[in-house]
Amino acid sequence: MDFIHEDFLLPTETSRRLYHGYAAGEPIFDYHSHLPAGDIAKNRQFQNLFEIWLEGDHYKWRAMRANGVAERFCTGDAPPYEKFLAWARTVPFALRNPLYHWTHLELKRYFGIGELLDESNAKRVWDGANVCLQGDGLTTREILKKFQVRALCTSDDPCDDLAEHRTIRTACAGFRVYPTFRPDNALLVNMPKQFNEWVNRLEQAGSRKISSFADFLDALKQRHDHFHALGGRLSDHGLPHCYAMPCADSAANRIFAKVRAGRAASQDEHEGFASLLMLFFGQLDAARGWTKQLHLGALRGVNARALAKFGPNTGFDTIGDANQTARLCAFLDLLDREHALPRIILYNVNPADNYAFAAAAGNFQDGAVAGKIQFGSAWWFLDQKDGIEAQLEALSNTGLLGRFIGMVTDSRSFMSFPRHEYFRRVLCGLLGCDVESGILPNDEKLLGSMVRNVCFENARQYLGLELGPSPEKQ
Ligand SMILES: [Zn+2]
Repeated sequence: MDFIHEDFLLPTETSRRLYHGYAAGEPIFDYHSHLPAGDIAKNRQFQNLFEIWLEGDHYKWRAMRANGVAERFCTGDAPPYEKFLAWARTVPFALRNPLYHWTHLELKRYFGIGELLDESNAKRVWDGANVCLQGDGLTTREILKKFQVRALCTSDDPCDDLAEHRTIRTACAGFRVYPTFRPDNALLVNMPKQFNEWVNRLEQAGSRKISSFADFLDALKQRHDHFHALGGRLSDHGLPHCYAMPCADSAANRIFAKVRAGRAASQDEHEGFASLLMLFFGQLDAARGWTKQLHLGALRGVNARALAKFGPNTGFDTIGDANQTARLCAFLDLLDREHALPRIILYNVNPADNYAFAAAAGNFQDGAVAGKIQFGSAWWFLDQKDGIEAQLEALSNTGLLGRFIGMVTDSRSFMSFPRHEYFRRVLCGLLGCDVESGILPNDEKLLGSMVRNVCFENARQYLGLELGPSPEKQ
């Protein structure tokens, strides 16, 4: 029997019934990802296994570095097969790391390869996968159809003109792809060079001069409107922690002028400016009925030498331990007091924050929208069996699992869609064990409908985005 067999991660009879009967057939609504829209717009065909699987994958680079592999084979200039071989040599050392599960789940689902990857079969796996990639079945659009992705949200800079989203909209009938408004750069008044380059881009994007803070807000609103016109209904912020002490508009105007003149904002000025903008973004989202995502707590680029050499998002980010809860609650409270609290999804990267975030969500549920404040799926370092179970435990114990909008890939790779299958198996594994030990009633109808809802239906209802047609209607 292959390692990834039909009942992988399904330890009990009930978990197997729930997974195969209710979870496996559900379509995918991947409402947070970093997939490049351009790859879907041009229906990219990957030339080899390296391109689709290793290019840009900082999870694998971290494992390879930890295995003593030289940087040349990670972010460097080694030929694609040599990089793949270095990865194959690393895989046996990754036992009990989620990469071991993902690697074999992905090889199986995309290429039907059931062998355990290592140095000895690397060439055979490489050749076999490349033959599959050369066919018509694994272009980006075909991958979305193969995995029953009915809707997908990308992450986009407000300056992006979203032309590729327009192309996808007219060319693809089977699924929908929506942009997500991610304005992290707008807060960077503590980093004048980055901030000013970005404001210049914002000027170009909106074909308008930005000479004051009021102009800046107008330009941001215009971009938000542009995203809305193209179907966008989500925003996303990646922050070390929430900002909830807004300065006055007049102070923001002074700070804006100071930073535009090339001087960095002080820590207090940054706090006040970032808080005022986050309130403004909350107001934009609430007015338009959008959903706001908050990814909180990552410490980015902590290895200065590596950051300078390889740039951001290359595997040198880590779990921060900033005091999140008070600031998160203060931010939600600020939005609530200003009648500007949109639907919100909270993601923590520090596992110690699981219960604090799950509980914080409960203070701002409003009785009009079910599950309005969501404790989001296990993120980044926590996106593995242990982390998913811990997220589900904290959510179940403090809120309503039955209203949870489920999993996202949060991925840069088109090979990550089996993460939904992985999550569904873990969910059904957990529920099945609870039934067998008498913690949950053995009521298949009750549990089965919750499983279906968490896998797909809750996200569909909560996000209110139009989906691609179901396969039988295409
Ligand atoms: Zn993300």
